[in-house]
Amino acid sequence: MSGILIDGKKVSSDINAASAASVERMHNEYGKVPGLAVIVVGDDPASHVYVNRKEAMCRELGLHSEKYELPAETTMQELLALIDRLNRDDRIHGILVQSPPPPHIDEEKVVAAIVPEKDVDCFHPVNVGKMLLGRRDGFYPCTPYGVMLLLDAYGIDPAGKHAVVIGRSNIVGKPLTAMLLQKEKGANATVTCVHSGTVDLAKYTRDADILIAAIGKPEFVTGDMVKPGAVVIDVGINRIADSTRKSGSRLVGDVKFQEVVEKASYITPVPGGVGPMTIAVLMQNTIKGAERAFKAAVGK
Ligand code: NAD
Repeated sequence: MSGILIDGKKVSSDINAASAASVERMHNEYGKVPGLAVIVVGDDPASHVYVNRKEAMCRELGLHSEKYELPAETTMQELLALIDRLNRDDRIHGILVQSPPPPHIDEEKVVAAIVPEKDVDCFHPVNVGKMLLGRRDGFYPCTPYGVMLLLDAYGIDPAGKHAVVIGRSNIVGKPLTAMLLQKEKGANATVTCVHSGTVDLAKYTRDADILIAAIGKPEFVTGDMVKPGAVVIDVGINRIADSTRKSGSRLVGDVKFQEVVEKASYITPVPGGVGPMTIAVLMQNTIKGAERAFKAAVGK
């Protein structure tokens, strides 16, 4: 058996097309477009690649975008002052500070400084709390919600299934665990979250109908850890050495694809699976935030 590939490029491009249409509609209806501000502190090359992609996607979909590339020596006070200004700027509906910032920047304080209405990453405790409660008036976190949308796009209903999430980070594992167990359409799974403290992890993964890996360890999930017919979602993005490539490296996920594809019913590739969904949801969230602000401004 060979699993069906879940095409994140296709699903995200459909979502992006709908987002572009929403931006156009909002421009016609309110005379304004959604705006996203991305801030990157320091010179981590990967962070710059990510913020450039976000900026490019804003341009492609017609959103207003502002990029702030701040030097590594930027103080907390300077960063908080910028966030404060953006919080009050009515052309901006989403603010994100690219992770990881330099060590002297307190990420928790930075996240808490962004008003929840513009926290399109869904990192602010208010939005995390709303997500946990199953409330729709906050935001859903980009990568985990991207995973939920991929399942939905392929008609994979988690209801009644055993979903096993490997990883308990605040960005992926924990929110995904919470989203899958909500009593609502497209969720309602029985969820197990396994992590670095789990004893005999494969015992759980082998029982998974839906297995989601978000660990950050190249090709960690091998064929023997997967139940035949399972849906396998690989969130991991890891760069490993590969002397056969001109660049000397290549990207792999947390799943050993060649082995697992033989057992899975559906599987996401890396790249081209979960990756493109993250930016698509970020754009959706910014549009959602803008729509709320525009409606509030006209008293709707
Ligand atoms: P993280 O390092 O914050 O968390 C990793 C989690 O994996 C931890 O909770 C840890 O308990 C668990 N873990 C680590 N080693 C383990 C082991 N041996 N056994 C069991 N559990 C183990 O990472 P993260 O931010 O959640 O990211 C995970 C992966 O997803 C990374 O490869 C990252 O690059 C990728 N990622 C991709 C996207 C995307 O857009 N596709 C977004 C965010 C993260």
